[in-house]
Amino acid sequence: MFEKILIANRGEIALRIQRACREMGIKTVVVHSEADKDAKYVKLADESVCIGPAQSAQSYLSMPAIISAAEVTDAEAIHPGYGFLSENADFAERVEKSGFVFIGPRPESIRMMGDKVSAKQAMIRAGVPCVPGSDGALPDDPKEIIQTARKIGYPVIIKAAGGGGGRGMRVVHTEAALLSAVQMTKTEAGTAFGNPEVYMEKYLENPRHVEIQVLADEHKQAVWLGERDCSMQRRHQKVIEEAPAPGIPRKTIEKIGERCAEACRKIGYRGAGTFEFLYENGEFYFIEMNTRVQVEHPVTEMITGIDIVQEQIRIACGERLRFKQRDIMLSGHAIECRINAEDPFKFTPSPGRITGWHPPGGPGIRVDSHAYAGYYVPPHYDSMVGKVISYGATREQAIRRMQIALSEMVVEGILTNIPLHRELMVDARFIEGGTNIHYLEQKLAHKPDLPKEVAIGSKSETKAEQ
Ligand code: ADP
Repeated sequence: MFEKILIANRGEIALRIQRACREMGIKTVVVHSEADKDAKYVKLADESVCIGPAQSAQSYLSMPAIISAAEVTDAEAIHPGYGFLSENADFAERVEKSGFVFIGPRPESIRMMGDKVSAKQAMIRAGVPCVPGSDGALPDDPKEIIQTARKIGYPVIIKAAGGGGGRGMRVVHTEAALLSAVQMTKTEAGTAFGNPEVYMEKYLENPRHVEIQVLADEHKQAVWLGERDCSMQRRHQKVIEEAPAPGIPRKTIEKIGERCAEACRKIGYRGAGTFEFLYENGEFYFIEMNTRVQVEHPVTEMITGIDIVQEQIRIACGERLRFKQRDIMLSGHAIECRINAEDPFKFTPSPGRITGWHPPGGPGIRVDSHAYAGYYVPPHYDSMVGKVISYGATREQAIRRMQIALSEMVVEGILTNIPLHRELMVDARFIEGGTNIHYLEQKLAHKPDLPKEVAIGSKSETKAEQ
C-alpha cells in the first residue's frame, strides 16, 4: 500500500480523500492555492504545499506545480478528486511519466471517455444501449446534417464532443433552426472546450437521469454498485441525488448494471467510474461516462457499505477487487442534498465569511463538508460548500431524516440553497418519487415567489452578510 498520497483538489472532496487516507494509515500531502491556505484539510494534512494564487489556472490546474509538489514531498500517488484535472488524460500521463501513480483510470480510457463521440462509439461496440443519434461527429455538409436530423426525428439535441458540466448543448425543435444551432454550438464548443466537434442526439423529452457506479481493477474484474437517480437538476446540474432509483424494476437495473460491468471488462477499464444514462419508457440510453469519483458517490456508499475512495486507492495500488458481484448487497435508501453558497431561488453565488455553521446529525445523517464557523468561502471556485446525506431503511425514512436534518442545519453569514432543499423534501411529487430531469426547472418557473422558509424549517437559517 502507498505510504503517502498527494491530494490534487480542494473543498469537501479534498477532506473526503484525506479521511479515506487517514483511515488506511496513509500520510497525506495537500496542495492548495493562496485562497485555501486556511482550509480544514490543509491543517489536518501531514504536509501541505501552496502551489499558486487563487486562480485555478495557476494552481489547481497547473500540472507542473502539482507534479513538483509530489516530487518535493516524496508522495507516491496523486488523487485528483473530481473536476479540475481529474478527467485530463494529459495530466494522468504526465503523472505516470514522472514516476507517480495516478489514482484513476489509464490515460487512454480517460481520453476515450472524455470525447463523448468516441465514448458513445465504444459503448455501442460494448453492447451498451445509447441515445439514438448521429454516427459520430457531425460533418460540415449542411445537407447531411439535415438528413441526420430527419432520420433521428425532432426534437434533437446538438452536443459538444468535449462538453461537460451541463454546458455545450442546444435543443432544436424545427429544421428551420437546425443549421444555425449547429454553427453556434460549434463556435461555443471551440471556445469553451478547445474542440469544435459536435454530435446530434434524439432529445428525450421526459427522461430521468439514472447512473451506474462501477469499480474495476487492473485484473479485468469489474462490479457495479447499484444505481443513482440524479434527475433533480437545474441547468443540467444535479441538485439532489438518491440511491436506489425509485420505481424502476430491479430486473431492468440489473440488466443495465451487468452491461456496464461487462463494458469495463471489454475496454479494460480500471478504477471507479460512472455510466450515465437517460431513462425513459422503461429503457436506458447511455449519454456519457465519468472516469472519476462523483460528487454523489456517498449515496452509493451508504447503501452498499463500500468506501469508494478507499477502493480507488486499492485499485491504483494494483490490488484485486475484494468482492465479487454476488457480494454487493444493496440495503436501505440514501439521499444527498448539495449545499451551495448561493441565493436559494435566484441562484446567484454567495461567497463570503461563514459566521455560524451548525451541521445536523443523528442516526442516518452524514455531512461531507470542509466548512466551519469562520471559514471564508472564496469566490473563485464552485459554490458547493458541502453535502448532507441521509440514510434510512426505506425511502420514506431517508426523506424524513433529511427533512429533520435540513431543519436543524444553520448556516450564517452567507446565503445557501438550504431553503430550496427544504422545499423539495416536502414536495409531493418528490415524495412520490421518479420525477424527470425537467421537474425542478418547471417547479421553479411556476413558483417564482417560492417562500424562503418552509414549514419544516425554523426561522431564517441563512442570512446574508450585511
Ligand atoms: P455533461 O457532461 O455536461 O454533464 P451530459 O451528456 O451528461 O452532459 O448531459 C447532462 C444532462 O443534460 C443530462 O442529465 C440531461 O439532463 C441532459 N441531456 C443530455 N442529453 C440529452 C438528451 N439526448 N435528451 C434529453 N436531455 C439530455
